[in-house]
Amino acid sequence: MSERFVIALDQGTTSSRAVLIDHNAQMVDFVQRPFTQIYPQPGWVEHNPQEILFSQLGSLTELLARHNLTEKDIAGIGIDNQRETTIVWDPATGQPIANAIVWQCRRTADLVQRLCGDPSVAKMVREKTGLLPDAYFSASKIAWLLDNIDGARERAEAGELLFGTVDTYLIWVLTGGLVHATDPTNASRTMLYNIHEGAWDDELLELFNIPKPMMPEVRPSSGSFGETSYPGVPAGIPICGVAGDQQASLFGQCCFASGQAKNTYGTGCFLLMHTGAEAIDSANQLVTTIAASAPDVGHTEYALEGSVFVGGAVMQWVRDELGLIHTAAESEALAATVPNTGGVYVVPAFTGLGAPWWEADARGTICGITRGTNRAHLVRAALESIAYQVSDLVHAMEADAGRPIDVLNVDGGASANNLLMQFQADILDRELHRPQNIETTALGAAYLAGLSCGFWKNTEELVAMRANDDVFTATMEREQAEELLYGWAKAVKRTIA
Ligand code: ADP
Repeated sequence: MSERFVIALDQGTTSSRAVLIDHNAQMVDFVQRPFTQIYPQPGWVEHNPQEILFSQLGSLTELLARHNLTEKDIAGIGIDNQRETTIVWDPATGQPIANAIVWQCRRTADLVQRLCGDPSVAKMVREKTGLLPDAYFSASKIAWLLDNIDGARERAEAGELLFGTVDTYLIWVLTGGLVHATDPTNASRTMLYNIHEGAWDDELLELFNIPKPMMPEVRPSSGSFGETSYPGVPAGIPICGVAGDQQASLFGQCCFASGQAKNTYGTGCFLLMHTGAEAIDSANQLVTTIAASAPDVGHTEYALEGSVFVGGAVMQWVRDELGLIHTAAESEALAATVPNTGGVYVVPAFTGLGAPWWEADARGTICGITRGTNRAHLVRAALESIAYQVSDLVHAMEADAGRPIDVLNVDGGASANNLLMQFQADILDRELHRPQNIETTALGAAYLAGLSCGFWKNTEELVAMRANDDVFTATMEREQAEELLYGWAKAVKRTIA
């Protein structure tokens, strides 16, 4: 038999990719198609669902054509997707009733405040969903569409409309309208799913006034979501793995056991720690979410999640607004021309500070500047700010979990920066492991699909394939690290004052 592959449909916030993955978990090739970001008003963000769809299908068919592949060559398709983004469509025509409301969109902030402002309601939401009530999650976005699109509420109540996050919409279209389903990781980001009972929650549906028949069936992340049946796409390929992007990346990092954690250094940073069968309630306002599980696990697994708002994005700022570098990658060589920042700290609280500080009104500062401060010091300080913020997050998560993160698995665009990774290991005093393939999100979707269709036997096989991580170990004197962290904490206080 000729070689077979798994394909990951990596549906992100700015682009859709189809990724071809072989039996050794190597990324053979990928096709990427960007799509339009729509900003109808300040604070609003939309995507055209059909543009998402065609960018995703286009990348898939181009990938297959490029390698002369047919349905016989593909063992299964896995999907990972931007989470929370909300689509409502009419199954009779396949037409969305409006653009998708993207996770970043703030249009429902007032609505969430009105519905969940009462502390007892917020507590109920938190206990059931593991989330802090926010416009970020899908619930209020669905409510907004039903209330603001002509006739939508009546049609939804008559059972004529379906809701889905992007995974669900793609599955529905790809299966020719046969399967209306999502997985628990995506469901856990809607703020309508009881993560302890594993079911859509009637009280929450009522709170947001959302008819239950709109909601997709929730199926295991590694399991059957039907087969492809769409014009132009080879028919009969099983869709058999689904997870939201951050949970997919946790899985792609082979964090299968309680205590294992990963941090993604992208535009923002996302830290997730697997907590096994235990849903840990955070004292630091981190969220509790469902982790993607291998098919043989047999019970729900959870994760703690926290994020840094401005991660790699601080380097974009240094590049585009300050003009100190031409590319983000250049920051490494420039920062290495000085042994340290000379006491300079950049606190990129451009949109406030997240865990563990939670200061929405904080704004960025640069402090410690002297007559000798130069470009390299500033760039280095900006780069180090990513590591300091992650360090704060790691400590908050460790406090919640009541256990240390011994090894931090890293990925994402900025994890390519060796100076940043070494500094991170130094101030955290933890080992960092960076896999050869930092495309862990697509890999996670591929793993989920591959495990359920028998392409790979079990998670041990996946762990065994992971070799030659780059490992970063702390080399800095602890005293020096403590001094730097103390300086960071002082700088953070100045942004809050
Ligand atoms: P996303 O998936 O959020 O779009 P990526 O994982 O592609 O982000 O990472 C891109 C981010 O990482 C950008 O914000 C960029 O400024 C930053 N970045 C990329 N390469 C480097 C580097 N070598 N050093 C520091 N930052 C980097």
